[in-house]
Amino acid sequence: MAPSLSSIRSHHVAVIGAGAAGLVAARELRREGHSVVVFERQKQVGGTWIYTDHVEPDPLSVDPTRPVVHSSVYATLRTNLPRECMGYRDFPFVARSGDQRRFPSHGEVLAYLQEFAKEFAIEEVIRFETAVERVAPATEGGNGKWRVESTEKEKRVRRDEVYDAVVVCNGHYIEPRLAEIPGISSWPGKEMHSHNYRIPEPFKDQVVVLIGNSASAVDISRDIAGHAKEVHVAGRSNPADTFIKQPGYSNLWMHSMIELVNKDGSVVFQNGQTILVDVIMHCTGYKYHFPFLETNGSVTVDDNRVGPLYKHVFPPELAPWLSFIGIPWQVVPFPLFELQSKWIAGVLSGRIMLPSKEDMMEDIKSLYATLEAQGIQKRYTHRMGIAQFEYNDWLATQCGCPGTEEWRKEMYLTTGVRKRAKPETYRDEWEDHHLISQASQDFSLYTH
Ligand code: FAD
Repeated sequence: MAPSLSSIRSHHVAVIGAGAAGLVAARELRREGHSVVVFERQKQVGGTWIYTDHVEPDPLSVDPTRPVVHSSVYATLRTNLPRECMGYRDFPFVARSGDQRRFPSHGEVLAYLQEFAKEFAIEEVIRFETAVERVAPATEGGNGKWRVESTEKEKRVRRDEVYDAVVVCNGHYIEPRLAEIPGISSWPGKEMHSHNYRIPEPFKDQVVVLIGNSASAVDISRDIAGHAKEVHVAGRSNPADTFIKQPGYSNLWMHSMIELVNKDGSVVFQNGQTILVDVIMHCTGYKYHFPFLETNGSVTVDDNRVGPLYKHVFPPELAPWLSFIGIPWQVVPFPLFELQSKWIAGVLSGRIMLPSKEDMMEDIKSLYATLEAQGIQKRYTHRMGIAQFEYNDWLATQCGCPGTEEWRKEMYLTTGVRKRAKPETYRDEWEDHHLISQASQDFSLYTH
């Protein structure tokens, strides 16, 4: 039975982070009638899309006391999804006055997020330069409420407040994962993580090894190849004999993984090649990290599995009063955040029902069992890929709104194929014109 209008409740909700996830969370929560405070430790909205020249003093970002630089974006970064596909569903990412390209630069994404915040007056509920230091249940027995401790403007103003619910949107591209390399402690070269990569010039005439198979290794290796003496990419999932010169480059090679490194500065690959190297860059991704969150063990991060989380959002023990947006990866992030936000907003108001705690746990256990049966490692629990569309459609059904548009699915798939086949040109040459016109037709509902 649908809840009656009188049983729909409005709550006081804290949102942590004003990136793409926190902004749409604030919008959907307010649309549902909740009162919202967004905590943002930076000076502006946009999260990872706020490019900065600054990098962390520790190039590997392993020192827990280091000053954190939030953004991982480098100077020449362009999106790896076409703008039509990437934007929120009812606020299309159409070309406006800035970078008109279909795969625009990071600055254009930031401008889009700023416009989104302006359009829905989200800034009025954001506390900028305010870092959340601690989130914990407000009382011992737990009455659902949360205590949120924050500090503003370099710890000059401290606040300790109670909220009905907390939505965590703190991003997950700041706490690097590193590859394990035999011999690294006595290797004399420089090591860094791609989180601290900004421009290629410092690599002039250097021999650089990048570790990773993901988008950042593909893009950064090409960015650096124009300046470095040699660039070698080592991929864990490449067959052991991989040694391929990349077409179109005189100085870029693909290898299997590093076997070991030596005191004389050499790097030995599994394919038997040995090279004297100046820099090793780990393009090996990131770990989920919630340094402010205290849940008495109800939510843990174990080998990059955040859990238990019902549908990657609600920990059953604490639902619906604690939730997470943006945990899935290998997805189209903004529309997925939008659907997760709608779901959370509706569940909090009582308009959408969650299953019992026991049933949510059963669902999570069954996901874990399926992953195990398929031989998928724990750290891939939140990797979605093609499964994201079924997930989105499930969320949409819960929310009573339409599922993912067919053109968006097809655009995502087509782009993926072209990206792998033509990493140099896929951003500037394409054939999916029919999908662009379908997208424009849909967008006309919102842009006129
Ligand atoms: P973030 O953007 O990281 O925002 C989190 C916010 O939380 C930040 O503003 C941070 O300051 C704040 N915060 C964190 N902790 C606290 C705290 N304790 N107190 C207060 N505030 C806090 N996606 C695409 O769609 N297309 C792309 O082409 C694409 N390219 C990418 C390239 C790179 C190099 C990276 C790293 C990511 C890319 N992504 C891309 C994914 C991108 O991360 C998502 O699109 C999206 O921006 C993530 O938003 P978020 O809000 O989850 O996190």
